[in-house]
Order: sequence, then structure tokens, then C-alpha cells
Amino acid sequence: MMKFNKLTQAEEAVIIDKGTERPYTGQYLNNEQEGTYVCKRCDAPLYKSNDKFDASCGWPSFDDEIEGSVKRVVDADGRRTEIICNNCGAHLGHVFLGEQFTNKNTRHCVNSISLKFVPVENDSLEKVYFSSGCFWGTEYYFMKAPGVVETSVGYMGGHKENPTYEEVIRGNTGHFESIEVVYDPSVITYGDLVRLFYETHDFTQLNGQGPDIGPQYLSNIFYKDEEQKAIAEKYTNILLDKGYQVATMIVPATKFWKAEDYHQQYYEQKGTTPYCHVYTKIF
Ligand SMILES: [Zn+2]
Repeated sequence: MMKFNKLTQAEEAVIIDKGTERPYTGQYLNNEQEGTYVCKRCDAPLYKSNDKFDASCGWPSFDDEIEGSVKRVVDADGRRTEIICNNCGAHLGHVFLGEQFTNKNTRHCVNSISLKFVPVENDSLEKVYFSSGCFWGTEYYFMKAPGVVETSVGYMGGHKENPTYEEVIRGNTGHFESIEVVYDPSVITYGDLVRLFYETHDFTQLNGQGPDIGPQYLSNIFYKDEEQKAIAEKYTNILLDKGYQVATMIVPATKFWKAEDYHQQYYEQKGTTPYCHVYTKIF
């Protein structure tokens, strides 16, 4: 007897009762992360992210399955081909052939709710945190740097748990508009990122950043260990030696609270450029 994961009602409606989730509602429709999609009910690996493609149909689409993991059966409608987990029989969706979407000419049209995504673990990546004013502008430069794998904007340094944007802009949560930068240290170093931080905002401003005035817009380097702290201090001292009045604080990182979705990759989504941050070569 196989041991299955407990399913919610919504999951059962698709996985057991062979229902279909509403198009454009599934959580994996636009997921582009690298990893493996496994069966929600039995955890058997079913699809690789490399085989996922955009069919603009409203459901995650794959042009291949992990060998032997997906079984094709004639649908109850006698017309379509249903696909089920070969291990546990969970309903996944349907497979369509000959649509010319990809070279494999196959589309597994799969309900997100039948799947669970397991991202590739990448132990070689590092994370760093900065604040330098409006986080839209801060993120704009970091996300473009080679070796930066992922960026997120959020809040750090304050006392309020689960802060919202509205709370932070009132300026009394103690939080700074901050960014998390995930990078590959074999491509870009922590020192490179510290230099980029200093070169993309006015680190001498005391009351905010550019036109954005308030305590949530102050400049901080949040270090996670003594090594990062030493590197941050090294570049700060170079600026002091050059005669700059550095307002940036170098403080220990605390919990990073990710901001609301509409703030993420803001300028990239809007196709515009920041008003609050410019790149200036210093080092
Ligand atoms: Zn299964």
C-alpha cells in the first residue's frame, strides 16, 4: 500500500475526480525556475523545468515527461488522451500531439494543482542585502549586473513583523526599503556588489535618497558575517580617503521581509528607468 500525501478538497477535485483548474489560475503557469515537478499526491518526479514551454493556453505545458513517469489513457470523453501519474494514478491533465508548438510536437497540458515544484538546490549561491533609497531604483541596477541570479525588494532593519508598504512609508516601522541580491560568487564578488551599491546612489545624503525623503530611504549595507563587514568597511574607507562624507551605515543583517509583488522588478515591468538612482563611476 503506497502512502499518499493528504490532499485538500480543491486538489481532490482535480487529482481524484479528474476536474480541471480554471485556466490562468495555477501557481506554476509562469514559473520559470529550474527544478523538477513532482506528483502532488505521491511525490514521483514527472516533469523537468527544461521541458516546460509557454503554450499560452492557461495551464503549464511540457513537451516531454520524465521517462516512464506519465501514463496515457483514453479520456472518459473517448476523444482526448488523459495523462495520469504512472505511480499513483493521479489525474494530471491531457496530452495533445501535432500542434507544432515545439520540435517534439507534444503538449502535456497539466493542472498546476496536480504538481509540486522542487527547485534545484544551488549551494554555491550567496545572498547580500542593501538599502539605498526607493527599492525600485536600487533593484534596477543590481538585477542587471552579471553574476546576479535573482533580486527581490523588501524591508529590513525594523521591528515590525510582516510589514506592508503603507506601514513602511509612514516611516515609523524602523524598516528600510531594501533589496536581497542572490549572486554567483564565481562570477561577481561581494566587493563588486559593494562598489555597485556605492556607484548607484548618493551615499552622502542624510535625509533620504534623491527626492525621496524619510528614514525608510536611508543608505545601509547589511552584512551577514565579519568577512562581509570587513569588505564593506574597506570600500567605505576608500570613499572617506577620497573626501566623501559617507552617510551609509554598516549594520548586521536582520530578517528580510519580501515586499508586495507589484514592487518586484518594478522598472523592468514598466519598461522605464529610475528617477531616483543613476550610475556614477567612482572606484
Ligand atoms: Zn503520483
